[in-house]
Amino acid sequence: MQYKICKKCVMDETDPLIEFDEAGICNYCRDFEKIGFRQLTDEEIEQNLLSLKQKLASAKKGKYDCIIGLSGGVDSSYVALLAKKLELNPLLVHFDNGWNSELAVKNINNIVNSLQSDLHTLVVDWEEFRNLQRAYFDAGVVDIEVLTDHAIIATIYKLAEKYRIKYILSGTNISTEFVLPKSWVHSKIDLSNLKDIVSKNSRQLLKTYPTINSLKIKLYYEKLKGIRKIQPLNIINYNKEHAIKELIDVFGWRNYGRKHGESIFTKFYQNHILPTKFNIDKRKAHLSSLICSNQLSREEALMILNEPLYDKSELETDYGFVRKKLGYSKAEFDAYLERPPSSHFLYKSDLTLLAKIHKIKRKLQ
Ligand SMILES: [Zn+2]
Repeated sequence: MQYKICKKCVMDETDPLIEFDEAGICNYCRDFEKIGFRQLTDEEIEQNLLSLKQKLASAKKGKYDCIIGLSGGVDSSYVALLAKKLELNPLLVHFDNGWNSELAVKNINNIVNSLQSDLHTLVVDWEEFRNLQRAYFDAGVVDIEVLTDHAIIATIYKLAEKYRIKYILSGTNISTEFVLPKSWVHSKIDLSNLKDIVSKNSRQLLKTYPTINSLKIKLYYEKLKGIRKIQPLNIINYNKEHAIKELIDVFGWRNYGRKHGESIFTKFYQNHILPTKFNIDKRKAHLSSLICSNQLSREEALMILNEPLYDKSELETDYGFVRKKLGYSKAEFDAYLERPPSSHFLYKSDLTLLAKIHKIKRKLQ
């Protein structure tokens, strides 16, 4: 099937909500224009980083200047590198969900040694986490990564409170992540959705798995405890290629080759499950972000999209590894891949509740 593709980036109609204007430009490119993204001068970056350092210093209550979630991937590793440059003492937090690649563990260790920082590793109860992942598989919903992201977010806020840390430095950024279709992901803090998916598809109870929801973040952590999230990659000219070079220089960091090779699950999910079951090639969103922020030409992006998502023998190895680790037979796993997807909104959702509150608020105004 031929999909209409944006004339400026590489997003296409595999995103069911994409909208093109008369010139064939998509809504993401138009939205990107609206935010007025531009390259900063060296002076501006220096000033931004200095203000950040001062902000952290004036809010410092305990031992740490800030808290950083570290997956071992490029973005979070580069946030750690900025912390080193600014001579900060961050608490580094890593979530070991049982799927880390060996290389990710090495990269994380190198970063921790170089920064001489404390690392808190949350090691998941594997039996419990596997059952939660299986519940998401059996539900057939798109965002299986909610489980990992949710646990990291919950752990970071809990530790920030425990150690009286006021600032969370996040690797989320505009220049490499701006384009992300709503239908390809789900909210990472939709606890009602998570609980309902798990309870309807599994007998597993949430025992040790850390949870959080948007109201707790807003009312408790932000309002009451004064904890704030900052995206430092947005106050510099964050460039993926340059970032990787610097990570290699400073930390002896090693590249994973494929995006998200830091986790075998994430690699398999993005490069096989998403395209096979959901007709989603996440590279399109990622490459389109790079095109929008002038880090890549459309021609280069189209060439990259022509490359296969997986090397055949690597796919076979990863397929067997993931399937066995989750405890599925080949027939069960193939059947999963062939079943039509289900929507997260077939389950309870905080988003529905928040939308209702928003509607009532608007009526009252
Ligand atoms: Zn576009």
